[in-house]
Amino acid sequence: MVENQFIRLFGLKENNLKNVTLNIHKRKITVFTGVSGSGKSSIVFDTISKEAQRQLNQTFTTYIQNRLPTYSQPDALSIENLSPAVVIDQKRLGGNVRSTLGTITDIYSLLRLLFSRIGKPFIGESDVFSFNNPKGMCPECQGIGRNIEPNIGKLFDKTKSLNEGAILFSTFAVGTWYWQKHLVSGIFDPDKKLKNYTDTEWQSLLHGKDKKIILPLKNEPVKYFEGVIDRFKRIYLRQESNQLSNKIKRFITLKDCSVCNGSRLSQEVLNCKINGYNIAQFAGMEASELIKLIEMIKDPIVEPIILNMTSRLKSLVDMGIDYLTLSRETSTLSGGESQRVKMIRHLNSSLTDMMYIFDEPSIGLHPHDVHRLNRMLQNLRDKGNTVIVVEHDKDVIKIADHIVEVGPGAGTNGGEVVYEGNLNGLYEADTLTGRYMRSKQPLKKETRICNGYLSIFGASKHNLKNITAHIPCGALTVITGVAGSGKSTLIFDEFLKQHLDAIVIDQESVSTSIRSLPATYTGIMDAIRDSFAFANKVSKSLFSFNSKGACSECQGNGFINTDLAFLESIRTTCETCNGKRFKDEVLQYKLDGKSISDVGLDYMTLGQPLNTLLGGECQRIKLAGELNQSSNIYVLDEPTTGLHMSDVSHLLSILNRLVDNGSTIIVIEHNLDIMKQADWIIDLGPGGGKKGGEIMFTGTPHEFVSESNSLTAQYLKNDI
Ligand code: ADP
Ligand code: ADP
Ligand code: ZN
Ligand code: ZN
Repeated sequence: MVENQFIRLFGLKENNLKNVTLNIHKRKITVFTGVSGSGKSSIVFDTISKEAQRQLNQTFTTYIQNRLPTYSQPDALSIENLSPAVVIDQKRLGGNVRSTLGTITDIYSLLRLLFSRIGKPFIGESDVFSFNNPKGMCPECQGIGRNIEPNIGKLFDKTKSLNEGAILFSTFAVGTWYWQKHLVSGIFDPDKKLKNYTDTEWQSLLHGKDKKIILPLKNEPVKYFEGVIDRFKRIYLRQESNQLSNKIKRFITLKDCSVCNGSRLSQEVLNCKINGYNIAQFAGMEASELIKLIEMIKDPIVEPIILNMTSRLKSLVDMGIDYLTLSRETSTLSGGESQRVKMIRHLNSSLTDMMYIFDEPSIGLHPHDVHRLNRMLQNLRDKGNTVIVVEHDKDVIKIADHIVEVGPGAGTNGGEVVYEGNLNGLYEADTLTGRYMRSKQPLKKETRICNGYLSIFGASKHNLKNITAHIPCGALTVITGVAGSGKSTLIFDEFLKQHLDAIVIDQESVSTSIRSLPATYTGIMDAIRDSFAFANKVSKSLFSFNSKGACSECQGNGFINTDLAFLESIRTTCETCNGKRFKDEVLQYKLDGKSISDVGLDYMTLGQPLNTLLGGECQRIKLAGELNQSSNIYVLDEPTTGLHMSDVSHLLSILNRLVDNGSTIIVIEHNLDIMKQADWIIDLGPGGGKKGGEIMFTGTPHEFVSESNSLTAQYLKNDI
C-alpha cells in the first residue's frame, strides 16, 4: 500500500535529462518549474504522459492497438505506478463552423432537451432544435448563420482600368489566363477606368455570363464570359469560411444570414419560446446571465435538466469564462480559453485515481482568475486524482504539495532536478526559482517620455464600449485586464485595423509542435539575424534555417525523420550538420566569437544561450546599437508564455533595447513583473464580456498603484 503512494521514475534520459530519478506523490499536486528548455516537458510530457498512454494502449487487443497512435518507449530505466493520464494542454480546440461552446460542452443538448419539453408551442423532439439537423436548420444558410460574400470594395480598384490591374485578386491580375481570355478579349474596353463604367458594363464585369468571347485562334471551342464575382464564388468560396486560405479571406466579408439573422435556426424553431426567449436567445447570452434565466424556470418536469445545466454553467463561472456565450464558435477561442473548456469536461467526471497533466494552465489568466484555477486543481486532487502541472506562475506554485525544479540551465546545461520539496523549502533554496520566489521586482521609476501617440478611436467591436485609447510612441505599453475584458479585441481587431504597419509577434508564427519555443523569440531571432548580417556584411537571409544558408541534407531541420510504417517515426540527428541546421560556410560567420548556431536560434538550445549572449557581459557588443535601425511598432500577446521568472527579465531587457532603438511596443500581459516595468499601462475592465470593454486606467505604473483601484491595480499593489 505504501509503495503505491508514489509514481516512481528511475533513470530518465529523454532529450536532455541526465539520469533523473524522482518520486511523485499520488493524489497530490506536483508543480514542475525551471527555465525554459531545462527539461520539464521532457519529464512530464515526453516521459510520464507518453508512457501512461503507451501502457494503456497495450491493454487493448492488437486489432485496436493498430488503430491507435503509437508511442515509443521513453528513454528510462523504469517507470512504475502510473495511472491513466489526461493531458490538458493549450492546443486550440479548432473545430468547424458547426462546433460551438454549447455543442462541445453538451450544454446546448440540454438546452434542446429543455425546449422539447416545455417550449411553447411544442414543436417536436429535441433534434428539431439543432442547427446541425436538417429539420431545425435555417434553410437559407444551412445552419451556419452567415454567408460568405466577396468584398467588392477590396476586390476592385475602381480608379484603374483592366489593363492597369483594376482587379486586385491575383487570379485575375494583368497577364493571367483569365485576364487574357476573358477580360481583354473584346467585351470590355481594357483601358477604361472602372469608375467610368456604365451600370450595365459593371454588372457584366461582376456577373455577366452570356457574352461570347472573341477568341484569337479560330480552332478553339467557343467560350462564354464568366463574371469575376461568379468565378470567384464558384472556385474559391465553396469551402466553409474557417477553411479558406488567408489569401482569400482578405477579399471576403462574412455577413449574418439575412433569413435567420445569424441564429442558424429555422423560423419554426425560433418561434418556440420559454419565458419569452427562443433557443437562439438563450444560446446568445453570456453564461453568467444564462444561469439566472435557467434558475427562474420552476417546472418540476424539467428539474433534472435544469440542475444538470446549472452545474455545467457554474463550471464556466469557476473557470473564469462565464463571459462566453454558448453560441461562440470553438474555432475563435484562444488557447487559454480552449484549455479551460477542456478542463470543464473533466471537472464533472466522477473518475478517480486518474493523472491530470496540465501545461501552464495560468496562461491568459489575470491574477484574479488564477485563484479560481487553483481551487479547481485542488478539487481534482481532493477527488483522489494525481495532478501534475508545468507552471511558472508564483501563485500556482504556492498551492503545490510538492515542487520539482528542473535546471540549473537549459538544454545540455539543464536536465537535472535542482530542487524537490515543499513550498517553504523552495523559499530557502539556492536555485533560480527559489531566488525569484523570495524577490519582488520594483516598479519602474523613470518611465520614458513619449513623443506622440498612436490612437485608437471609437473602438466598439465585440464588448468594447466605444472607447478611445492613446498608445505612446517609443515606449513600452502594457495592456492589462481580466480575461474577456477586451484586450485582444482592442489590439488585434481595432488597433491593427487603424495602424496597418504594426508587426505582430504572435504564437502562431511558431511551429506548434515545438512546445518549448517561447513566441517572443521569433522577433528577437530576427534582430539577432540582423546583427549577424551587419557584423559580417552579408545577407541576413543566410542566417535563417529555412533559407539558402540551411543544411541541404536536412533542409535546416537538424534531424532526419525515418518513417517506419506502424511504429512512430524515428528522428535522428542530421549527420551532415550535426544538428546545427546550417551550412559550414554560414557557421563561419561570427558575432562576438559565436556562430549563429551557438547563439541558439535553434529551439534546442534556446533560453540559456540567449541570455549568455544578451545578458550583462555582452552589453559590450552593443547589440542594441546594431539592431534594426528602423523603428517599428511591435505587438506581442502574452510573451511570457512558457517563460520562467528568470527568463522574464531577459525578455524585458530585450524589449527595452528595442524601445531604446525607437520602436513602440505593445504587450498584452498579466505578468506583474512586466506591468511593473512598463512605461505606460492601459487597464481594461471592470469584468469580462459585457461587464468589460471599458478603460479603467491609463498612466504610468506608479500612478496605477497610487490612483487606481481596479482588480489589476490591487494585485500589483500586493506585489511591491
Ligand atoms: P522545458 O519544458 O523545460 O522548456 P524541454 O523538456 O522541452 O524543456 O526541453 C529540454 C531540452 O530537450 C531542450 O534542450 C530541448 O531543446 C530538448 N528537446 C526537447 N524536445 C526534443 C526533441 N523532440 N528532440 C530533441 N531534443 C529535444
Ligand atoms: P481578452 O483579450 O481581454 O481576454 P477578448 O478581446 O478576447 O478579451 O474578448 C472580449 C469579448 O469579446 C469577450 O466577451 C469575448 O467573448 C468576445 N469575443 C472575442 N473574440 C470573439 C469572436 N471571435 N467572436 C465573438 N465574440 C468574441
Ligand atoms: Zn440562416
Ligand atoms: Zn543537416
